Amino acid sequence: MAVEQDKAQVYPPEPDDLLEYLPGVDCGSCGYPGCAEFAEAVLARKAPATACTELQGEEARVLAATAELGWEPIPFDVMMEQAPCELVEINGPGPGAPLVVTGNFRETVRILTEILGRTGSRVLLLPTCTNGYSVDNAVHERMFNASEVLRAMRETEVEHRLERPVMIIPGLASPERNRIRQMTRWEVVVGPVSGFLLPLFLLHNRHLWS
Ligand code: SF4
Repeated sequence: MAVEQDKAQVYPPEPDDLLEYLPGVDCGSCGYPGCAEFAEAVLARKAPATACTELQGEEARVLAATAELGWEPIPFDVMMEQAPCELVEINGPGPGAPLVVTGNFRETVRILTEILGRTGSRVLLLPTCTNGYSVDNAVHERMFNASEVLRAMRETEVEHRLERPVMIIPGLASPERNRIRQMTRWEVVVGPVSGFLLPLFLLHNRHLWS
């Protein structure tokens, strides 16, 4: 029996997860003893993300934009509302852009679009039909599954849009990775649990699809 979805979490980033995207040299130039303390301070809004002197260029810009995102809870009155299972183009993605797959809970699609848009990430976002369930509930109920991913890919003909058959699925959907890979014959990369870290994840792994 399907779960009643009366709430959804936004999974704000954790310091340990943000730490993966910091230089890790513990130089102390930011005013903190090491990168772990700096990650905590950035997420607590006590330190500007720009204080890391070891990050330059695009990495510094995306980190700063990520730190400025809000991670407010999802309002209860929008649960189960669905977004269309259609490709969403964010920041003019070209053929070397990544394909990010998610569920079709309207708030998930809205929040991801905002995160990716505000961090300047060039992405094709593909919501698959989860009947309005958020990804965590959809994985639990097997609504985020390989058949729906394949169906959405066929209906949108996304294979004609991209140079390389690589997709990123939500970290919460990692149990579905092998089935999706077998059914679609695309390479499937498991992204972060927190969608707020998706722009940094995409930047660090861009060699996989471009
Ligand atoms: S300046 Fe950057 S690399 Fe150095 S400790 Fe701070 S966060 Fe780590």
